Amino acid sequence: METRLFYKIAVITSVFLLFIGCSRRQKITAQQTPFHTEIPSYTRHLNGFKICLDPGHGGQGHISDYKRGPTGVREADVNLQVALHLRNMLQEVGATVVMTRVDDSYVSLPTRSQIANESSADFFISLHHNGIDNPETNYTSTWYHGDADDSRQSLDLARYVQQGVSDALRLPNSPATGLFSDKLVTTSGFGVLRLTKCPAVLCEASFLSNPEEEARLKKDDYLRKEAYGYFLGLARYVAAGFPKGILVAPQPETVIQTRTPRLQIQVMDGLHQRGAWMLKRQQVFTDAIRIKVNGISLPYHYDRDTDIITVAIEEPLANGVHFVETELVNYYGNHSLPSRQWFKVAPAAVELRLNAWTDRLPADGKSYVGISVTAFDADGTPISDGEPIYMQTSNGTLAETRQLSKRGSSSFYLYAPNTPGTATAEASYGEKRASLTINFKDTDTAIVQGQISDVTSRKPLQDVQLHADPGLTATTDTNGHFFITTEPTSTVPIKTTLYISKVGYYPHKRKIDITPNQATVAHTKLRPIAGGVFASTLIILDSRSDTPTTQKLIETLQELLELTGAKVYNIHTLGQKSTIKKRIETINAIAGRGYYLQINHAPQAKDEPPIVAAHYRGNQGTETFLKRILEQFNSTLYETPIITVQDRTTPEIQQTNKMAMTLEIRSLNRQNASAVEEAQAIFFGAWTFLKTDGKIDAEEQKRFMAYLKERQAYASD
Ligand SMILES: [Zn+2]
Repeated sequence: METRLFYKIAVITSVFLLFIGCSRRQKITAQQTPFHTEIPSYTRHLNGFKICLDPGHGGQGHISDYKRGPTGVREADVNLQVALHLRNMLQEVGATVVMTRVDDSYVSLPTRSQIANESSADFFISLHHNGIDNPETNYTSTWYHGDADDSRQSLDLARYVQQGVSDALRLPNSPATGLFSDKLVTTSGFGVLRLTKCPAVLCEASFLSNPEEEARLKKDDYLRKEAYGYFLGLARYVAAGFPKGILVAPQPETVIQTRTPRLQIQVMDGLHQRGAWMLKRQQVFTDAIRIKVNGISLPYHYDRDTDIITVAIEEPLANGVHFVETELVNYYGNHSLPSRQWFKVAPAAVELRLNAWTDRLPADGKSYVGISVTAFDADGTPISDGEPIYMQTSNGTLAETRQLSKRGSSSFYLYAPNTPGTATAEASYGEKRASLTINFKDTDTAIVQGQISDVTSRKPLQDVQLHADPGLTATTDTNGHFFITTEPTSTVPIKTTLYISKVGYYPHKRKIDITPNQATVAHTKLRPIAGGVFASTLIILDSRSDTPTTQKLIETLQELLELTGAKVYNIHTLGQKSTIKKRIETINAIAGRGYYLQINHAPQAKDEPPIVAAHYRGNQGTETFLKRILEQFNSTLYETPIITVQDRTTPEIQQTNKMAMTLEIRSLNRQNASAVEEAQAIFFGAWTFLKTDGKIDAEEQKRFMAYLKERQAYASD
């Protein structure tokens, strides 16, 4: 609304200037409508595109010298204002805009990428302003991720953005080109570009550290001019069209039987459909075509007369879904946008293999048997995933009659009737059928069976360990079921205890009566330790200080974390000195996102805080994590200020690809200091942090402490 009004005023003003221009021509140039309010007609091509704008930083105003100009202008504020202007311009011409933030709030880098990915944005632009010690430095630069080969589309976008912004700002020292790889700055590149799936660039429009530039960046009109540079850059990029390969055979999202299909792809240069004045043939570079099936480039034939690409698949494809990607480059140099189409290979089954836990159940109306069905094609290969397999029975009751295949298999559960008899269970897939027989009659064995699930999520739990005297053991299947049959010798009922355990869950025991010719059905729900907040969380523990106290703390913490189902790496060994370089290599070699926590001990000097906690400067995730730990120390052990160090020098924090933190505990000269209690403070701090509402349920904490006590009592028995 505000923008529309602005444009209206601008138009009225320019008409007015035209009139007075007749008599006082020499003054017009000075008062002309600023060029950055016009909307050229080619910007209409932006209509329908979805663009994610990412104003860099935000929410870090509490860090006094963080990303500010010489007089204190915050980069986060400037970035946001430019992005808001740009949003208005883009919306004006029909583009959809997704913002990673619209106010001064902290948004982590992975969350920014997630916003772009989840909104299926077509393009991602991170807006920044640079800073450096030399106050004279000032130019525009645009950054892409990794190597040129991996960032073709991002580079197309980067060229236009760089040109648009540098043309708008006209900084005298801007380079003619100005594109840089993010790997020049950090080994893995900028997280926000690496994690974003669509073409993504980061533009440092100018240097906020330059005093004259900072003065200009205080003026809204200058910010609008910068936004206009982005706007025209984006519009010209989109106007150059996006070539596209369209799968015509097999039809996308269809099922075929052959494993060696002939693919046909229609070539579009992205410009003909607009009625551009061009040669009849699609204007793409023939030798720049790349066809990938499941990510692997394959040879092809391109017929220029029909504009059809043919790919003959010679190596038989596996059963299942296959993805086709076509990369084309049109005569403006624009690459096709990332997109893939799929088809499915699902040959008919020639064999169904049925497997039952047992062929005999008591006719007790409660015991049940699991029957797995695996379907094989003519090559003896299990059929595709997601194919429907059916089961029907002549007696008893089936829990499900249709299940989708996984690795060629589906599992069915058949419940015994109350009266003796025989069931023929028949499975079918396509035309193929197979059956087996289950007898419901008296047996001299007993059955213990059931399903184990998570009490909170209600999901069935696989690989749960069960054991009971005398010598009965079992592990649950993919659907959480277990099945134990006793030896046929015992005819007397046995009272025993069934022990049920799984990492990350409180162990459970229940009394059961084993009775021959009967099933004891023991469906059980397990409670996740710490509410499951640690499950699969990656935590690397380390130390630089080579003291037995630290060793004890880390081992205790590791044990606590492992109980919860966290994935813990302890890379510290007492007496083994490691270089910083080697330590960083070790940390970065551990795959996946996660936390790195280095814990050191030292004596406390007078007037020093008892704990110093440091994290990557401006990273709010680790800052909050450490504050939760400090709060825990404060309330249970040592009085300490809840303040963290915004680190910019520690190599383990600066050069690792994990959420890195260091914690120095100055308790070596403290009476009654306990490494175990310190480990618990860190553990409960971590628990509070991982809990999304930041609070641990008192009941939950009590349960955990009781469990620890029980374990210790058991261990010392
Ligand atoms: Zn920045």
